[in-house]
Amino acid sequence: MSAAGPGDRFVVVGAGLAGSLMAALLGRAGHRVLLLERRPDPRRGPAEAGRSINLAISARGLHALEQVGLKDEILRAATPLYGRMIHPVEGALAFQPYGTRGHAINSISRADLNVALLDAAERSGDVTIRFGRRCTEVDPAAGWVETVDVASGGAGERHAGTIVGADGAYSVVRAHLQRQERSDYSQAYLAHGYKELHIPAADDGSPRLDRNALHIWPRGGYMMMAMVNRDASFTVTLYLAFEGANSFAGLAAPAEVRGFFERTFPDAPALIPNLEREFFANPTGTLVTVRCRPWHVGGAMALLGDACHAIVPFFGQGANAAFEDCLAVAEALARHPGDRATAFAEYEAERLPHANAIADLALANFHEMRDHVASPLFRLEKRGEVLLHRLFPRWFVPLYTMISFTRIPYGEARARARKQGRVVRGILAVAGLAVVGAAWLLLR
Ligand SMILES: Cc1cc2nc3c(=O)[nH]c(=O)nc-3n(C[C@H](O)[C@H](O)[C@H](O)COP(=O)(O)OP(=O)(O)OC[C@H]3O[C@@H](n4cnc5c(N)ncnc54)[C@H](O)[C@@H]3O)c2cc1C
Repeated sequence: MSAAGPGDRFVVVGAGLAGSLMAALLGRAGHRVLLLERRPDPRRGPAEAGRSINLAISARGLHALEQVGLKDEILRAATPLYGRMIHPVEGALAFQPYGTRGHAINSISRADLNVALLDAAERSGDVTIRFGRRCTEVDPAAGWVETVDVASGGAGERHAGTIVGADGAYSVVRAHLQRQERSDYSQAYLAHGYKELHIPAADDGSPRLDRNALHIWPRGGYMMMAMVNRDASFTVTLYLAFEGANSFAGLAAPAEVRGFFERTFPDAPALIPNLEREFFANPTGTLVTVRCRPWHVGGAMALLGDACHAIVPFFGQGANAAFEDCLAVAEALARHPGDRATAFAEYEAERLPHANAIADLALANFHEMRDHVASPLFRLEKRGEVLLHRLFPRWFVPLYTMISFTRIPYGEARARARKQGRVVRGILAVAGLAVVGAAWLLLR
């Protein structure tokens, strides 16, 4: 096995969204960086099929992208989504705006975002990217990462440096930490999985649905979503239980799929021309929440993004949170230039409670999106929230607004939303008592 590279550099494992942003931030700060990725270079061929073709980036992600000069470029390539468009089984579509001030989340192709970040990493300074290298082992005590060539399975190399694990939910770097004493780890799968389907643009190139909305088909227990792509097509994501009623297991034949769609998503079959073929050809993805602690080994190794906190996608925050991690690491390293152990410890202390908070919020939002968004009570509550926010913009900020359109740390946003909820329920209770009291006085 050959040993490559000197010790005083960062070796980032995983050139996905977090790893490539981290490499760009480290490069800009004057560090030497080696970025290792198991996939081929997405700039030299078609992007590999994988998770979610497009994703939504909001305030937190945009702020991080701004630090490497990418915010405007990404916004130009993205489509703003100003609210949710609800598709009921029967009746008219209903639009629910996200905020009061033209707030929008931004639909962007995962591949475009990744390519922009890889380019930014290479431009940022002394950053070398090596594709087709799969990390197989790490040793933070000795300060190396071991990789093999994916194509041949051989040509093992060791790369010396400070290790950053940005290798996603099934992180090999984290696996090392899991083997250590006093290392906490949990992984919980949803009973639901997801499958992507495709709505092409119309023959004249126009979108078949409102392009500036996140489309949701909430059905209680399961749901479907669609987000626009740059070419006016839409990527549809169907979330169904693996087993039981209305599940992937129950849809075993093309006629069953068509029948299910016609009954439960009646406007969809006309939009998805290759419904049955795509349903059986496209993979069914799993949805996992990963929590762990610690996130670092002294100043020798740290984890970020999905590698230390994979979350379910229902708040559209996984990548946004991963980008916030990258900034927190860069800022901590700048505060402690000669002391990576303190920098990594501060990073973990700053981010871990908020990663747990957004993991909980994302799970809760699954129930909200699939079960509640269509209900009149929910719509009334949302209108009430918007009204309160308009009347008292500093005092009352809806949870979704805090998560998607501010950078208030996730845990603080959750605590504030709970407090606001208690006050609002108190006001409603007093108002209710006043109405009952007035009615009693009038009627006695
Ligand atoms: C269906 C779905 C929809 C989503 N929608 C949104 C959304 O709208 N908004 C949002 O913010 N987030 C969303 N997310 C979450 C988001 O995709 C992740 O949080 C984000 O990709 C995490 O980035 P990462 O860089 O940590 O991990 P990843 O993107 O998984 O990148 C990890 C990288 O490491 C590489 N790698 C893995 N193992 C090795 C190895 N052994 N050696 C070398 N390289 C390795 C991988 O090839 C990959 O390039 C969604 C997720 C899903 C599943």
